[in-house]
Amino acid sequence: MPEPPSQANSNDVARQKVIRDAPPPFNKRAADVILRSSDHVDFRVRQSILAESSPFFEAMFSLPQLPESRKRKERDETEYRDGIPIVDMSEGSRVLDALLRFCYPVEDPALPYLKVTCEVLEAARKFDMTYVVAQVKKQFLSRAAQQPLQAYIVAVTRGWVDEMREAAKCTLRREMRWDAYIPEMEQISAGAWYRLRAYHSACSEAVSKLVDTTQPNEDGVVMEWLTTTQWPWFTCLCSQPASQKPYTAARIPCRSAPWWEDYLKDVKLKLKDRPHRATIVESDAGEQHLDRTTCRTCLSQKISRKMHLKEFEGLLIQEIDKVMSRIQLEVRI
Ligand SMILES: [Zn+2]
Repeated sequence: MPEPPSQANSNDVARQKVIRDAPPPFNKRAADVILRSSDHVDFRVRQSILAESSPFFEAMFSLPQLPESRKRKERDETEYRDGIPIVDMSEGSRVLDALLRFCYPVEDPALPYLKVTCEVLEAARKFDMTYVVAQVKKQFLSRAAQQPLQAYIVAVTRGWVDEMREAAKCTLRREMRWDAYIPEMEQISAGAWYRLRAYHSACSEAVSKLVDTTQPNEDGVVMEWLTTTQWPWFTCLCSQPASQKPYTAARIPCRSAPWWEDYLKDVKLKLKDRPHRATIVESDAGEQHLDRTTCRTCLSQKISRKMHLKEFEGLLIQEIDKVMSRIQLEVRI
């Protein structure tokens, strides 16, 4: 029966692991420290560059160095390669490479996946690298815009409050499939998932209400954010359909053009799904409904109507932003 490997043997195996050299610019002889990644890649770097980027490394390198004569002797536990001290890092080479590129005077790397982005952000925070944190956060946000649920989940699992909020905001501008399963869901509690859904629902409710003419507030007013009814869809001849129940907007009882009512219904549904300014910015629903009207006056003044629609949408966007700024994701960490 073969003997199990002894402790000494497994240590020998570990020592024999092949050390690889990092690619340029981290392979220069002029380096004065080697950062060895957890997957055994040596990054030759300059202490001064790291010290500028990170108070953590600045403190590490400001510790008194042993004189040359005592290096490699028993009391110096530092490992050396080519006379350069080696610092063992817990980060893998992929993370370390990206982290160092942000510190070095080379082009900032584009991080390929959300997972790598988070690992680099985590390392940048650990080493107190303010500039790197800011740059990687930008990349996190653009990832979150593409994969808001995954971004929310990684932020929850790491206890990153800012990133949780940003990822939650990103769910507002995408068409979400809330019933779809993604494997990452297993990593968070039902509570964290509930809070994200509750945030989305609250935004959906509040933002779609801005264009809801069927639900007046306690003063009997709809669209209370409108300060005037001097818009062509309230004043045109076509704006008095007997079929429409009059409502109070801007504290004035009114009816509005059927094409505009249809436009509002359409926008309300869109805002329920995507309660975000982008829903208005990216939509030409107003123009489409105007194009379908049979009102001769509205058709003959189409250009001016469209300009008014743009103006109305500008005000609506401001209101959407205001409403959203008052709603916050609940966070528990
Ligand atoms: Zn008209």
